Amino acid sequence: MSLTDMSLKEDYASHPRLRGGNHLIDCLPPLQRAAVLALCEPIELAVGTVLSEAGQPYRHAYFPVRGAISLASQCSGHPPFETESIGYQGMLGATLALNINLASQRSVVQTPCIALQVTAKQLQKALRDHPALLQIVQRYLFTVYAALQQTAVCVRFHSVEERLARTLLLAHDRDQTNHLPMTHRLLAGILGVQRGAVTLAAIKLQRDGLIHYRRGKVSILNRRGLEAKACECYRVSSVHDTTPHSPPGKTSPYVRYRTDGK
Ligand SMILES: [Zn+2]
Repeated sequence: MSLTDMSLKEDYASHPRLRGGNHLIDCLPPLQRAAVLALCEPIELAVGTVLSEAGQPYRHAYFPVRGAISLASQCSGHPPFETESIGYQGMLGATLALNINLASQRSVVQTPCIALQVTAKQLQKALRDHPALLQIVQRYLFTVYAALQQTAVCVRFHSVEERLARTLLLAHDRDQTNHLPMTHRLLAGILGVQRGAVTLAAIKLQRDGLIHYRRGKVSILNRRGLEAKACECYRVSSVHDTTPHSPPGKTSPYVRYRTDGK
């Protein structure tokens, strides 16, 4: 559904920074940022909307501004397992920068989302026309590659409690709110475990005063404590996210969140 509030739409098109735009687009030089934004349509995406299917070409690419898109892989006899969650710091359809228009996973809107939508064809042309865009998207692909490697290690070696803490920290970074709309079912899908295991881990974090869980919402009560509880994969992922596509002198939102003491 396209945004019906034209003033909001115009605001995104002309001043995306005022409302906190997409990090990749914000990193572009002003002229190229304006050129890319001119191709984009701000759009609201409802939870559960399927944006791509594994093995199918992308019709559109998406640069989220608010909310998250989940990418999941599936094998027979098991529920889908989330391998990546895309928020304002990323994009869906980054492999178009490799001149490959093929989705490797199913992607579904995870939380209420506002995104900048652009057709795959238009984005591929923009990637050819604007080297800075190509460079930023390619560097973002590196962070995705590194994060997938870290997730493989995380699933193999770290406890559900540590991984839950990491997941909540990453969601906190992405959504920029202390109140995360995350059900046990959603968290079980992200962690690839039974709901009961999520419940036990959440009870421990709540007992330690780090979070409060109620009716599908997780509130972060003690950010530093949650960081201490999370496995090292959170810090590794944050380093990857701060380095490749942040322009010189730009403070990453992750750095800001890690030092705000919450
Ligand atoms: Zn880990």
